[in-house]
Amino acid sequence: MELWEESLAQSITSLETLVERFPIDPIPLRPVVNRYPLRITPYYFNLIREIGDPIWCQSIPDPRELETDHLSEDPLNEEGNSPVPGLIHRYPDRVVLLVSSSCPTFCRFCTRKNRIFRCHSLPLNDSLQSWVKYLEANQSVQEAILSGGEPLLLTDDELETILSTLKMIPHIQILRINTRIPVTLPERITLRLSKILKRHHPLFLNTHFNHPQEITKESAEACAILSDAGIPLGNQTVLLKKVNDDPEVMKELMKKLLTLRIRPYYLHHMDPVKGTKHFRTSLNQGLKIMDRLRGYISGLAIPYYMIDLPGGKGKVPILPEQVERNGKTLRLRNYRGEVVEYLDEED
Ligand SMILES: *Cc1c(COP(=O)(O)O)cnc(C)c1O
Repeated sequence: MELWEESLAQSITSLETLVERFPIDPIPLRPVVNRYPLRITPYYFNLIREIGDPIWCQSIPDPRELETDHLSEDPLNEEGNSPVPGLIHRYPDRVVLLVSSSCPTFCRFCTRKNRIFRCHSLPLNDSLQSWVKYLEANQSVQEAILSGGEPLLLTDDELETILSTLKMIPHIQILRINTRIPVTLPERITLRLSKILKRHHPLFLNTHFNHPQEITKESAEACAILSDAGIPLGNQTVLLKKVNDDPEVMKELMKKLLTLRIRPYYLHHMDPVKGTKHFRTSLNQGLKIMDRLRGYISGLAIPYYMIDLPGGKGKVPILPEQVERNGKTLRLRNYRGEVVEYLDEED
């Protein structure tokens, strides 16, 4: 076993272990973990400083996950945009491949929290064959984005197989990996892995830091290994209530990311996902934060604030004029010129 596999095997998956470390009542959490399992790597767990802090809120089950919220299990209609299982084709030139259905740490706000275990049921090689067949027949696709689950939970050999197979399709020019591994299991980023990734350039990697507390010596080292392999690093942050919905926190996060050679890419407004209502903020709150970044910190450190339109209509950047002009119901125009109405949360 490699070091990271040993670490993964020590992950906290039971409320009993949680209760040994923190004085909490496990009873209200039992039904929550039956529905949405608990899993935290030892590394990420050790970043918790106190109950209710930003690491805690992102990874520890909360009874509010089971409240009736009228939100959707699949708000972006990913299943409707999956011509073959595990492949999401929404935009003309790029696809998302759900290469893994597990994660080292289950994020409580996950956009696929209701579906992840059924996203990917076939053995990886069978899926890969059906994806290749689809991609070969769809020449407009030039980029493949590996997502999941956590793509970097695959073994080095599995990753090598996927990447080289995709690269053999002539019109697939760009590879992208979306991963939270540098945040939750930085041990996984080994020199050996970086050498495999490096063989498949142009390959981009977007990681997922949500709070400055996640930027540590270990995560910085993991990102340095990737950067040194010539992999351009971006970051996607999700705007989360009580975690990072504060201009000063966001400013610190974005500035620190830049020192790690990570270019902030998107700040995502929360998707309306069943079981995540307690993480939702208003669009105004997101815009207020953006307003406190622009001009005050390097333009290199400023992400786009994005909303993924319900129903899979596509991502659009949110601009101040839209919210000021329209109040609670926004009319947002996607890349195809379709206008979609979006109801904002209370401030
Ligand atoms: C977000 C997303 C992409 C990538 O969009 P970019 O704006 O290029 O980052 C591609 N496909 C799907 C289905 C997505 O959700």
